Amino acid sequence: MNDLLNRIDKELIKKAELLLDESTQISIIPHSGPDGDALGSSQALYQYLIKKGKKAQVISPSAYPVFLRWLPENSKVWIYTNGKKKAEEYIRSSDLIFIVDHNSLKRSGDLEAVLEKAKAKKIMIDHHPEPEQIADVMFSDTQMCSTCEMTYEFIEALGDEDVIDTDISECIYTGIITDTGGLSYNSSHARTYQIVGHLIAKGIDKSKIHSNIYDNFSPDRMKLLGHCLDGGLEVLPDYQAAIISLGKEDLLRFNYKDGDTEGFVNYPLSIQGMLISVIFIEKDDMVKISFRSKGNVPINIVARDFFNGGGHMNAAGGRSELKLQEAIDLFKKVLPKFYKSLDQ
Ligand code: 5GP
Ligand code: MN
Repeated sequence: MNDLLNRIDKELIKKAELLLDESTQISIIPHSGPDGDALGSSQALYQYLIKKGKKAQVISPSAYPVFLRWLPENSKVWIYTNGKKKAEEYIRSSDLIFIVDHNSLKRSGDLEAVLEKAKAKKIMIDHHPEPEQIADVMFSDTQMCSTCEMTYEFIEALGDEDVIDTDISECIYTGIITDTGGLSYNSSHARTYQIVGHLIAKGIDKSKIHSNIYDNFSPDRMKLLGHCLDGGLEVLPDYQAAIISLGKEDLLRFNYKDGDTEGFVNYPLSIQGMLISVIFIEKDDMVKISFRSKGNVPINIVARDFFNGGGHMNAAGGRSELKLQEAIDLFKKVLPKFYKSLDQ
């Protein structure tokens, strides 16, 4: 049963193994505004490397929401914007850098220039399309549901499955479920479930993880969601699309905190017949946009071509320097042509 076997390239593993053997100090960099997959894979790798006797450090380019701060080794993570000098010094004296869950240094945010200058060898582990040549060893596989799944395969391919303990398993499981909407999309490979089976056998507390990630709304956040699904929602049935718009005044009204809108963009896809859902969020200096779609609707093309972004076919993101309403108008303008181009 080939689809139950480790899918990591064995030649690349040999190269990574050499780099690991030669290195003592290692930096691990998730993408800016890290999500469950970026943090889960970073912290899984961190714990693995520490157990292998390396000096390692996760350096997140930016802060992240409270529902991701419970991971087993969270307290060890450095946030670049909270201590730039120390982080730059650590990266400068590293002999190996892992770039995880992103494939373009633009997504390393404020660390972009630091990483470009760094002399260390780099290993990338990522599952997004259109990778840029940013590392000496590039593990890039869009078939993987998450970077966490790749991290499991990576450690197993190094012959170290037995090093994966309960804490590492909880990190890996977190990325697998947050990147697949709790194994609902982008998760049709048998191997994913075999890996989940292994993680459960390692003793993870599935209910605790689900509860930490999903059952942690503040009352304000719940009300903000209510607003998004009521006054903030516009359904465009002709194009099987829905738009949520959040202005600064809405964020203020509901005491917005970082991460409060996480996952909101998925809700309109529960409306019968919807194929596309987009949320526009007005920030201080730009409009942040998240795109979701179903089936063979490559919404990442819209993110890439019109909103300075990209991502996966069904989950993408971008930004616009336009005003909130102008950004929404631009989307409404390009939507009919995009919709017509769909192969349905
Ligand atoms: P989210 O909507 O949850 O912020 O992001 C969903 C996916 O879109 C991410 O996993 C990432 O692949 C992609 N993405 C989000 N923002 C950006 C962006 O600014 N640029 C690119 N290239 N991809 C993004
Ligand atoms: Mn991911």
